[in-house]
Amino acid sequence: MAERRGFGARLRNLFGAVRTIDEDTWDDLEGALIGADFGPDITESMITDLKEKVERYRTTDPRDLQRMLREDVEERLAGFDPTLKLTDRPAVVLVVGVNGVGKTTTIGKLAKYVGNFGRSVVVGAADTFRAAAVEQLATWAERGGAAVVRPQQQGQDPASVAFQTVEYAKRTGTEIVLIDTAGRLHTKGGLMDELGKIKRVVEKQSPIAEVLLVLDATTGQNGVLQAQAFIESAGVTGLVITKLDGSAKGGFVLRVQDETGIPIKLIGEGERIQDLTGFTPSVFAQGLVG
Ligand code: GDP
Ligand code: GDP
Ligand code: MG
Repeated sequence: MAERRGFGARLRNLFGAVRTIDEDTWDDLEGALIGADFGPDITESMITDLKEKVERYRTTDPRDLQRMLREDVEERLAGFDPTLKLTDRPAVVLVVGVNGVGKTTTIGKLAKYVGNFGRSVVVGAADTFRAAAVEQLATWAERGGAAVVRPQQQGQDPASVAFQTVEYAKRTGTEIVLIDTAGRLHTKGGLMDELGKIKRVVEKQSPIAEVLLVLDATTGQNGVLQAQAFIESAGVTGLVITKLDGSAKGGFVLRVQDETGIPIKLIGEGERIQDLTGFTPSVFAQGLVG
């Protein structure tokens, strides 16, 4: 939660220590929003909204401004449905994204998260090229209390591992299937082709409930650009924003949802198994703005 404290520290002066709203307040607020990666468009639009409200309500109290900012953040997030759709049996979730963003870690945490609701989980190690990736997933899955389906040999067709994972779930009545995928290929084949094949093969047995794209908050806009191919062709149904604990970039959350039009469904806030939460706009806005 360091990021929220980081952003909050800047806002504390603004909303707490100072007595009135003046030109400096607006400059400071603009600097804080840009610094927290809200991006120029949202920052400008928010400042305009807030100035208009401050005028309309004829307030000079910074605490009113803080409340208005919190409500503004919440309203901007509220137009999207953050609910994970996991009602199919099995509910198959594909986790995609570029290397290092936190896919494997998120799967372990998600196994634990849905396990806490009493759901049974199997994870499929469809990032098959590196043996270390398979072992990392297996370790996380164990922590999360999930079963694991591994490739029979290194480099096995990822689609085949995905197929076998869904097959396992159907055979054993396991409720949730989480499939880990590669972020980069070691062959000449296209990553999107590989994902397309995984989807086709899974859909022979079961519809795909969610395709979650993992984005690392610390990479900001650059990370979104790197993930563009997934957004364009992987049929993404939800976003997972990771590493919000270390980023001081909470505004990224608003920005990325605004720019992609895809709902954020989960937030990663650390490296421990319990550091994953569902996304609730009011809670997030409160944490961000105070
Ligand atoms: P993948 O390549 O997308 O599967 O990424 P990994 O799951 O292997 O994660 C890459 C690194 O990011 C690891 O060191 C993780 O511990 C770290 N990581 C993942 N999620 C978070 C998070 O929410 N917060 C922090 N601080 N680190 C994270
Ligand atoms: P194509 O490669 O586009 O022709 O895709 P297909 O739908 O023909 O699937 C081929 C791949 O999917 C195989 O190489 C396997 O990896 C996987 N697959 C499809 N059906 C099965 C199956 O019944 N069992 C297993 N284990 N894998 C399957
Ligand atoms: Mg991984």
